[in-house]
Amino acid sequence: MRILITGAAGFLGSHLCERLLSEGHSVIGMDNFLTGDPQNLAHLTTNENFSFIRHDVSNFIFVPGKLDAVLHFASPASPNKNSPYGYPNLPIQTMKAGALGTHNALGVAKANNATFLLASTSEIYGDPEEHPQKETYWGHVDPTGPRSMYDEAKRFAEALTMSYHRFHGIDTRIVRIFNTYGSRMRLDDGRVIPNFIQQALRNEPLTIYGEGKQTRSFCFADDLIEGIYRLLLSGIHEPVNIGNPVEMTVLELAVKVNEIINNPAGLIINEDLRLGNDPERRRPDITKARELLNWEPQYTLVQGLEKTIPYFKMKLGI
Ligand code: NAD
Ligand code: UDP
Repeated sequence: MRILITGAAGFLGSHLCERLLSEGHSVIGMDNFLTGDPQNLAHLTTNENFSFIRHDVSNFIFVPGKLDAVLHFASPASPNKNSPYGYPNLPIQTMKAGALGTHNALGVAKANNATFLLASTSEIYGDPEEHPQKETYWGHVDPTGPRSMYDEAKRFAEALTMSYHRFHGIDTRIVRIFNTYGSRMRLDDGRVIPNFIQQALRNEPLTIYGEGKQTRSFCFADDLIEGIYRLLLSGIHEPVNIGNPVEMTVLELAVKVNEIINNPAGLIINEDLRLGNDPERRRPDITKARELLNWEPQYTLVQGLEKTIPYFKMKLGI
């Protein structure tokens, strides 16, 4: 296949480019480096099956030649209000990437009669009242709250994707990604795992937002990419959750990271750093992915962290 990946210079986009190239596909990466980094693609630039277009997906997308698939990953993804890369500090760009960007990416898929895959998110469930979250749950989202620029853009993106599928007959996929971590996340991205790993590596206390009783379920990037690749090759048009169902509190995560890195500095609890509407509980129900894609995560948290920590050591020069 000849595949366009938007958001290619980001954390997940760069891993996806790598995986698709290794499967023998030809990949065109697209990114405007809003939250991504050209370094994430540096090792692919000599690959003759890879090319790159610097472009903001909020503007009309043109790619010369026939495309077989379009994978739309371009969007800020960190909710951290203290990071310049967090979507609370990029609200208009976030809404444009989810709304105009999805429209343009669907347009290029339609023009090529290509398969379209949307990177959606567990955030579309909001602060969930159903637990764990199944794909059938409609969510509990504040439409004007501090996370609304991301949550509502992704909900719009899902609705637009289903509209293109139902009205234009486009072959679409929607993956609802739950918290995923791994190499190539920005040091200053602000999401919890990069924050905790670098704080621990610097022997600083880990910053717990709120009391740390909120839960998340963390998936290692290689597992997620495998699930996305299987979904791409499937014929499933309805949304599919991909994530790791092992749930833990943020406090438990912090203790685990300090233990693995042997950080004596402990933890600091800080309510002020927490963004409003922070979901209290999050865990994917992955029955659908298990049954339809024969997929489930292979890496435990400890195994995934052990593969991720060397990247952050390298970035910090440790
Ligand atoms: P990331 O910030 O590392 O990557 C996003 C990429 O999109 C960056 O390279 C950025 O420069 C690019 N981008 C943003 N706006 C753009 C625009 N207008 N035009 C072109 N490029 C643009 O984040 P990530 O974690 O790799 O997330 C990738 C996708 O996966 C996002 O759509 C995100 O919503 C989704 N997702 C990620 C997670 C996760 O846990 N990592 C969870 C749920 C959903
Ligand atoms: N969090 C934290 N300390 C940090 C960064 C995040 O306690 O340094 C918390 C955050 O408030 C949230 C959870 O960790 O409850 C996961 O945050 P993240 O930014 O990774 O993504 P989210 O799941 O909220 O989209």
